[in-house]
Amino acid sequence: MEGFEAGIQCPYTSHVFSVGEHGKKCPRCERVITLSAWQEKQRCFCGNTSLIEAVAKSPVPTQITSFPQRITVTVRNLSGDFRKTTDVPLDMKLGDFRLAAAKIAGWSSIPVCLVEEKTNKVLRDNSTFGELGIQNGTVFILSPEAEGGGTRLNISAPINIPDLEEMTVLLVQADVVYRLEEYRSDQQHWEAIMWTLVGAILGVLVNWITNEPIVISKISILAIIMFSILACIAFASVVKYRKRAEKMKERVLNSKTVNVN
Ligand SMILES: [Zn+2]
Repeated sequence: MEGFEAGIQCPYTSHVFSVGEHGKKCPRCERVITLSAWQEKQRCFCGNTSLIEAVAKSPVPTQITSFPQRITVTVRNLSGDFRKTTDVPLDMKLGDFRLAAAKIAGWSSIPVCLVEEKTNKVLRDNSTFGELGIQNGTVFILSPEAEGGGTRLNISAPINIPDLEEMTVLLVQADVVYRLEEYRSDQQHWEAIMWTLVGAILGVLVNWITNEPIVISKISILAIIMFSILACIAFASVVKYRKRAEKMKERVLNSKTVNVN
């Protein structure tokens, strides 16, 4: 059922509604008329004929007019050698109070925070005393940010943004990068084999030289020929993969550039 505030008057009968009494409420002009007036007139004072039954409820206080506009609070430091009691307006922001308190305490240069003594809560800067419901006589502890258990330390680091040219980003097909890497690793693989074979050839040559009467056996000649052929094959592979990798690298470098802003 609809409700209306007790204490209002019926425009026809001047009856004052008390809590729990029923009447007919006009949705258009918000007037309430008594049930007897309704029976007689069948319309509101404004002419509206469709009224709804409603009940009178105790009026809700919409504003607390006696609310104090200022409260007395105390601020002190952890050790207690600084202590000051002051009046503050309820609409003052905690952040402003914190800065003012820090200045008086001689701590303007260090980051401090305000902790409510009773609750041990760190108070947010952008709320007012009124919004936080801070009571008269509340004690705050002013403490350096790094000190005291529950306080957080804000660490900031400068970010240097490079020149626009350096922030250019390449859009590259993933498979191109993948294949480039594959070719490079194949190339290194064949290079390793090639140098191993070159080492083997050198080993045979050193053997020839270091034997007092230089002996060149048929087998050693055969070995050198075989190693040389294999080394040539390995070298050819190195060249082949290097070429392929270069091609891929070119494709990467020719990819579209996108500027990141
Ligand atoms: Zn009306």
